[in-house]
Amino acid sequence: MMSIAANIQAIRARMDAAAARAGRDPGEILLVGASKMNDAAACRAAIGAGIDALGENRVQEMTAKLAEGAYEGAPLHFIGHLQRNKVRQVVGRVSLIHSAGSLELLEEIDRQAEKRGIVQEVLLEVNIGGEQSKSGFAPEALYGAAERARAFASVRVMGLMTIPPAEREPHGNLPYFTKVSRFYVDISRDLYDNGFKYLSMGMSDDFEDAIAAGATMVRVGSAIFGHRQYQ
Ligand SMILES: *Cc1c(COP(=O)(O)O)cnc(C)c1O
Repeated sequence: MMSIAANIQAIRARMDAAAARAGRDPGEILLVGASKMNDAAACRAAIGAGIDALGENRVQEMTAKLAEGAYEGAPLHFIGHLQRNKVRQVVGRVSLIHSAGSLELLEEIDRQAEKRGIVQEVLLEVNIGGEQSKSGFAPEALYGAAERARAFASVRVMGLMTIPPAEREPHGNLPYFTKVSRFYVDISRDLYDNGFKYLSMGMSDDFEDAIAAGATMVRVGSAIFGHRQYQ
């Protein structure tokens, strides 16, 4: 558990340095721990070490860990692919859904949030690499979707999220991050009164490039919790 705290401290230092290089205020960049496949004790260790939020990918795993009180003391986010029939189990339990990637999903989030009498904050996910295997709005559909999303009374769009293609070369994702950052600025200005707050991009291997491009939230898993054991 000591190592989780040490890892978080090291990542913060790298985040601060990346912000300084970009002439940005490090205080405007949040560290979200991607805690999938890590137990409640690991989540608590990250919270004890001052992580800004924890992000989960799977509804079932999140529900089980919620029951164990894994997230007490930090905001919980949903960052994974979300199926329409699981929206009910997520809305109102998390402070932010990063992965709203279709109008159908937004519609269902709106419906479930309205039922609970809340406004659910979300990010629009952009499939910036246009990959078949990934969800999210195609870049050419994003502006129109952001425009339509303003009509949902129980959903508030707070920004954008992206998972770029897995590039092998160093800095290979930087051009994708830069593109999404431009969408973020333009859509916030044109459609949301400059009200966007969160640009969620960057993971263990590329969060410094994401910060250089303007990320205000990075989602870091293995660099905090160690490599995940896939069965
Ligand atoms: C797992 C995950 C991350 C973190 O990935 P690492 O490479 O382990 O840092 C970030 N975002 C999402 C959506 C994830 O599923």
